[in-house]
Amino acid sequence: MRAALVTGAGTGIGRAVAVRLAQRGHAVALVGRTAATLEAVAGDIRAAGGVAEVLPADVSDSRAVGAAVAAARERLGRIDVLVNNAGVAPLVRLATLSDAGWREILETNLSSAFYMTRAVWPAMAAQFQREASGGVIVNISSLSSRDPFMGLGAYGAAKAGLNLLTLATAREGAEVGIRAVCLAPGAVDTGMYRKLIGGTPEPGTTLLPEDVADAVAGVVGGATRYSSGETLFLHHGPA
Ligand code: NAP
Repeated sequence: MRAALVTGAGTGIGRAVAVRLAQRGHAVALVGRTAATLEAVAGDIRAAGGVAEVLPADVSDSRAVGAAVAAARERLGRIDVLVNNAGVAPLVRLATLSDAGWREILETNLSSAFYMTRAVWPAMAAQFQREASGGVIVNISSLSSRDPFMGLGAYGAAKAGLNLLTLATAREGAEVGIRAVCLAPGAVDTGMYRKLIGGTPEPGTTLLPEDVADAVAGVVGGATRYSSGETLFLHHGPA
């Protein structure tokens, strides 16, 4: 059975991605800081006949990332797909952003993807050598990476870094069968977006988490399965 590791899998986009990959026949390792939300998602996946493992970890901590990936390999036997989705988007203008705030935004949205990519690399490269089936890394960026909303400057900078990290991952991964694609959505109706706008979006004015899950499934085994290195922007309605 193919296996996927999804970060930020307890809520929003990460939850929808984990459920979708499970529906597509992947055993899924669910990573996030809050065990209770991960357990709820695992329960839903198992109730539908799927396989899910709960691995609570802070993805901004490289040691915790190493331990989570080791546990995923041990429990699932392999890692075919990594979705770096965990993120935070506090609304703070640059002039008032603290050192700690800057570090948290960069560590959670960008460094985490590097820690995870480095940690899954040996498993994916070994699979490629053994059975010519390497791995796919999907990084969840944002439209803010090219058009930062006021107060999302640090977040946009981190996501722009993620776009380039994806290209570098694709370049260096090609020889060991690792593909990497970045998906950069505009507004998606999740807890993060509702907090940003301080309310509930009008129905039909945003993407839904399931739309992003569709795009991830497309990269893993659908229409965009031949892409590598690209950042694909996802818009609601006409761009
Ligand atoms: P969300 O529901 O707030 O999801 C973020 C997830 O990341 C949470 O499950 C959270 O779980 C996890 N997380 C945060 N910090 C973490 C850490 N240090 N270690 C491990 N997990 C951590 O919001 P979302 O909208 O689904 O966001 C998912 C991704 O989509 C983010 O990267 C976000 O930047 C991106 N995105 C969102 C939108 C949008 O409009 N919603 C648009 C473009 C891009 P815990 O708190 O339990 O750890």
